[in-house]
Amino acid sequence: MANENKRDYYEVLGVKKDATDAEIKRAYRKLAAKYHPDVNHEPGAEQKFKEINEANEVLSDADKRARYDQFGFAGVDPNFNPAAGGGNPFGGFGDFGDLGDLFGSFFGGGRSTRRSANSPMRGEDVMERLELTFEEAAFGTEKEVSSARIEDCDRCSGTGAEPGTAPETCLRCNGRGTVRVQQNIMGMVMQSESACPDCRGTGKVIKTPCSRCKGKGKVRRSFKTRVKIPAGIDDEQTLRVRGEGCSGRNGGPSGDLLVTVSVRSHPIFTRQGQSIYCEMPISFTQAACGAEVEVPTLEGKVRYTITEGTQTGTTFRLKGKGIPYVNSKNRGDEFVTVVVETPVRLSREQKELLRKLEDGGSASNLPKRKKFFDRFK
Ligand SMILES: [Zn+2]
Ligand SMILES: [Zn+2]
Repeated sequence: MANENKRDYYEVLGVKKDATDAEIKRAYRKLAAKYHPDVNHEPGAEQKFKEINEANEVLSDADKRARYDQFGFAGVDPNFNPAAGGGNPFGGFGDFGDLGDLFGSFFGGGRSTRRSANSPMRGEDVMERLELTFEEAAFGTEKEVSSARIEDCDRCSGTGAEPGTAPETCLRCNGRGTVRVQQNIMGMVMQSESACPDCRGTGKVIKTPCSRCKGKGKVRRSFKTRVKIPAGIDDEQTLRVRGEGCSGRNGGPSGDLLVTVSVRSHPIFTRQGQSIYCEMPISFTQAACGAEVEVPTLEGKVRYTITEGTQTGTTFRLKGKGIPYVNSKNRGDEFVTVVVETPVRLSREQKELLRKLEDGGSASNLPKRKKFFDRFK
């Protein structure tokens, strides 16, 4: 098979062989959003998108991934049968139970010859990205998302036939959608059903195609929809809006709209899960003497008492001042790390005062320093 030309699935997603499920998921989402045919119109993007999806399908499934790790592409080939020979490329031929699938693929139709082209099919999902501010992600919002999807053509109501005409029964297959094919394979005459080439399995031919959709019955159209963003959503999380994707075929349901959010960084806070972190500079005097200070939170300032003798790097916690948990009343915490700022550009008098302060002190004012130099002796 053409597997020699295929790129390694791990390479396709840009992850290591021992990548966790979460890492694979993240890598897939990033790439899928980048190469999605709705957003990327560069040549080759669609091919790349397919490659990414194929790699994800295998690596996101524990069972398929294990087989791929062990046997390579052959391990995830639908015709692969490890019981019938493992490494032997012709192993699958010994198992007659698989002949149907095997010959099905020889006729070029694969599994699609078995499923009628008329059976209901769900529409494709539509993927979109949405940028949120730190606060919007923390407290939730509502946003308008614009995208494009495949919808039923409104000129022909999805039939593909010009208004006033109707699709006609295919004469080659009498509307059955399939034709019998005889082939000589390995000395055996095999008969099989194959999709009718005239009507591509639909059993109907359109004599006068609709001028808007060129007979496809579907058109690509841009749309806008309002999406509720729940409080607490995090960077790279995806919201599913049911039924807002492409419309289905033959009465099948519509796909979904998948909105992946990118959360912008905040000038003060960083976020990890539902906790937020910040570093707050305090003066040497505030740290030494203790002080009541104003601490920033996502909802304005709160007062906090720094205790006397606070060291640089000390972290205190503001309970419930972090990010809300999605669909919950609970919230994470805020962690504030104080950094004692060494004064700069001091005047001569100021330096004089500081030296006086230090000369007047004793070793017990600086216990850490004393301990360090005691050990050093
Ligand atoms: Zn149409
Ligand atoms: Zn036909």
